[in-house]
Amino acid sequence: MTGPFHPDSTLTSWGRVIRAPHRVARPRFGDEVADLVTAFSPEQPGLAIGLRRSYGDSNLNPDGRVIDMTALDRIIAFDPATGVMRAEAGLSLSQALQVLVPAGWFLPTTPGSRFVTLGGAVANDVHGKNHHAAGTFGASVTRLMVLRTDGSAREIAPGDPLFHATIGGLGLTGVIAWVEFRATPIPSAYLDGEDAEFTRVEDYFDIAAEKKTSFEHTMAWVDCSKSGSQLGRGILSSANWYAHGTLEPHREQPRRKVPVEAPGFALNALTVRAFNSVRHELKSMRTGPYRTHYEPFLYPLDGIANWNRLYGAKGFYQYQCVLPPATARDGTVELLRTIAASGQGSPLAVLKDFGANPPVGMLSFPMEGTTLALDFRNQGSRTLDLMADLDRIVLQAGGRLYPAKDGRISAQMFRAGFPKWQDFRAYIDPGLSSGFWRRVSA
Ligand SMILES: Cc1cc2nc3c(=O)[nH]c(=O)nc-3n(C[C@H](O)[C@H](O)[C@H](O)COP(=O)(O)OP(=O)(O)OC[C@H]3O[C@@H](n4cnc5c(N)ncnc54)[C@H](O)[C@@H]3O)c2cc1C
Repeated sequence: MTGPFHPDSTLTSWGRVIRAPHRVARPRFGDEVADLVTAFSPEQPGLAIGLRRSYGDSNLNPDGRVIDMTALDRIIAFDPATGVMRAEAGLSLSQALQVLVPAGWFLPTTPGSRFVTLGGAVANDVHGKNHHAAGTFGASVTRLMVLRTDGSAREIAPGDPLFHATIGGLGLTGVIAWVEFRATPIPSAYLDGEDAEFTRVEDYFDIAAEKKTSFEHTMAWVDCSKSGSQLGRGILSSANWYAHGTLEPHREQPRRKVPVEAPGFALNALTVRAFNSVRHELKSMRTGPYRTHYEPFLYPLDGIANWNRLYGAKGFYQYQCVLPPATARDGTVELLRTIAASGQGSPLAVLKDFGANPPVGMLSFPMEGTTLALDFRNQGSRTLDLMADLDRIVLQAGGRLYPAKDGRISAQMFRAGFPKWQDFRAYIDPGLSSGFWRRVSA
């Protein structure tokens, strides 16, 4: 029997490698959710999902049931005097900004896409370009409502162990009904930025160390096609909020669209062109200091809707690791060398330093160090073998991989990176599960 859960034979995540049959419920009102949640059981576990911007299988429950939370997007309360917002978990960061920005507030931190729900932001304890200054999204969460499959509804706050399991808890501790968080004040919707070029990745580390002392936002684009003396050449962008501008939010619609799946033969050219256009946009702002609206700076890829289709029918993997400070420089060089030698990397990778902020969640991904993220078009075993080589470098360096981006790591790799996973198990709702969790906990 399906009831409110309807079959979807090809539900997929952002990377589109895994397409699996699911049964999906799409509640329109908050009071419908409790009955859907209690329909899940340890024998037939379910999962809540958001805008499916996670790349692998942490937001999929193949052959099982999911609750699509995205229609539950109401703002329950917002106090423009304090910046505290309480909203249903399906509200997107993009929608939240439409209300926050005109009132002089911004998200405390934001991932590189605004098409992410509050529930997804909490479940992956997402980070942004200001991690060294503000920590993760979870650091600003003041309260959550979690619905468990035993029928209980738990309102939780910092200090409660269930709260710290739920922040970064991959949707496994309960279905998040609403999220309350504290926004951060902004003087305008504009940023004052500047760029620093580096001709090899070793130089990134010194420049980043200097920039993060005076800039709230920092990140670098790295050219993965270069090797030898230009290995890891790139541009480090830094920015602070501009003090005197106006407070208009972004346009909700992306500027460009990828209407159909890119045919196989066009893949490389199209992919490179799309990314190069992003790079061009970035570059065109970059003759010395520049001023920019937050949208192209914080969300450059959101300008092209469905850019994930550019990788074609087989989809792509994203690989994101973090290495601790002691091994970050050598480890990053080794990773980039291995990627350049394989010829499989996307044209651009992102490098960013995380700060020493203590993690809020038991499974929060960020830790002090340097994070590298890039895409690999899915070329089957060739790509999997490359990522297995990268895994060995990350393990050796004492680093870990981001579950939000992953669809294939081994249980051993996950457990080595997240030693608190054993403590976390005590807070899992036995009626919830995901493809990712079944793989890494087996
Ligand atoms: C272009 C792009 C750039 C990105 N940049 C960054 C970045 O800079 N930093 C970063 O941290 N991440 C980044 N991400 C990843 C993204 O922020 C996370 O994957 C985020 O969790 C996606 O949210 P979502 O709403 O799409 O949730 P989904 O991907 O659908 O789900 C993610 C997780 O949240 C859980 N979940 C969703 N809703 C609920 C709910 N109501 N209750 C309980 N669990 C729930 C799901 O079970 C799943 O475990 C990026 C993604 C893209 C596509």
